[in-house]
Amino acid sequence: MIEFKNVTMKYKTNGVIALDNFNIKIDDGEFVFIVGASGAGKSSFLNVIMGQEKVDSGIVHVGSYNLNGIKNRELPYLRRMLGIVFQDFRLIPKMTVYDNVAFALRVIGMGERKITKRVRYVLKLVDLSKKANCFPNQLSTGEKQRVAIARALVNNPGVIIADEPTGNLDPVLSNEIMSLFDKINSLGATVVVVTHDLELVHQFDHRIVTIENGKIVSDVGPKNVYNPDIAGVSAPSASSDSDDQGEKEVGKDG
Ligand code: ADP
Repeated sequence: MIEFKNVTMKYKTNGVIALDNFNIKIDDGEFVFIVGASGAGKSSFLNVIMGQEKVDSGIVHVGSYNLNGIKNRELPYLRRMLGIVFQDFRLIPKMTVYDNVAFALRVIGMGERKITKRVRYVLKLVDLSKKANCFPNQLSTGEKQRVAIARALVNNPGVIIADEPTGNLDPVLSNEIMSLFDKINSLGATVVVVTHDLELVHQFDHRIVTIENGKIVSDVGPKNVYNPDIAGVSAPSASSDSDDQGEKEVGKDG
């Protein structure tokens, strides 16, 4: 579970308030799109979740961690709960697909036999078993992003966070990658995807949270059911007479 209660976060260097009285609750197993214009605060939201930025006020929970008081030595454990996918893939050029994915497990000292089993499993999941011995420069753009997703999954994190994962992809590949996140979500992971691609978002039936100027201005559940859990947000026109169905729908099995 990820929860922000009345969170304000200001960048010290320039005084910009990136998150302004920000409230959100994301249950385990949900799939949430975070949308909003450039500069709205989407990456700042992710940076707080990843423990890269501390908040000035309010409360942040990520899984069992209260990030307000989190110690630096606890950060690696927090990050192990999170699989992170970036727009620019961030693969290691000199490593094969297999080694790029295995790397995170080697760092934590897992035995090679277990690593092999796990890496094979996630490469199969992203349909890249045949490319295990290729280097990143031998892959298409979509394949590179699938390696990055496999790497994010390999540690079996509860939460997958993706920051503009389709920013470098054409519409067909973008849809393919988003469908892969869908599959991952249906296997049980919580998925949080930041994107500005509204057209893509509307091809899927997931909760959509819109940020503007560091505030949540709309929070719409699957099938456009309004999510009343969010305080201070005006209800969109669709289905505002429903109860907490939006939360229940997403909380189900993906
Ligand atoms: P988005 O991801 O929606 O484009 P960001 O979270 O990156 O938005 O930015 C929110 C606001 O915080 C913007 O005004 C941006 O200029 C500012 N900002 C982002 N990162 C930093 C930083 N490292 N230092 C200072 N200001 C920042």
